[in-house]
Amino acid sequence: MDYAVARRRMVQQQIVARGIVDPRLIEVMNKVPRHLFVDEGLRGHAYTDGSLPIGHKQTISQPYIVAAMSAALELHGNERVLEIGTGSGYQTAILAMLAKRVYSVERISALAARARKVLDSLQLSNVNIKIADGTTGWKDQAPFDGILVAAGAPDVPEEYLSQLTLGGRLVLPVGGYHQQSLIRITRLADEQFHREELMGCRFVPLIGEAGWSDAEDE
Ligand code: SAH
Repeated sequence: MDYAVARRRMVQQQIVARGIVDPRLIEVMNKVPRHLFVDEGLRGHAYTDGSLPIGHKQTISQPYIVAAMSAALELHGNERVLEIGTGSGYQTAILAMLAKRVYSVERISALAARARKVLDSLQLSNVNIKIADGTTGWKDQAPFDGILVAAGAPDVPEEYLSQLTLGGRLVLPVGGYHQQSLIRITRLADEQFHREELMGCRFVPLIGEAGWSDAEDE
């Protein structure tokens, strides 16, 4: 299988065709080898139009959703970005190539370790990964120009709002356990936020102090 050909087709048919136009983002989506972020047995499916299992009841997000969330952050290259839910590390790699530095939090240590390995093999050295409950953000490193949450929250965790720079953007799925709306919140002033609804989506649950409880995961 020619992964580079499959990847270019993915970008054209799933991302450009759905209206994503940012040339930097398109270039990065054309570069990052998504097949390295899934198990060997699934590599042939890495460029299909959907999410895929990565173990531990978690998934690598659909390529279009990764592109849409990244686009919503409107990155130019100088930003510090917080990502919640490293998962496979695929979205992390995209962000690492679009921003200056990425701080990524994952609650499942085995996933964090695997993501770290793949990111290292791609020589993406501007990524810090922490194993923790990311529902409280990453206080020591705040504020962030962008915060991207890759798991669905019942409500917007307060900490994310206070860890945004002025003009900073938070993109996260909010809503039910199985289905959410993708929301973008921009911090206009200290206590002034602008909220937009981008699209419907389905993410795995954000589990932790300001998310869903572990018990609901059974
Ligand atoms: N963008 C990732 C998505 C992974 S799925 C990818 O494409 O691979 C979402 C991830 O969020 C899972 O790995 C899950 O373990 C993690 N997660 C859920 N709740 C979390 C929390 N409170 N803090 C950190 N990570 C969390």
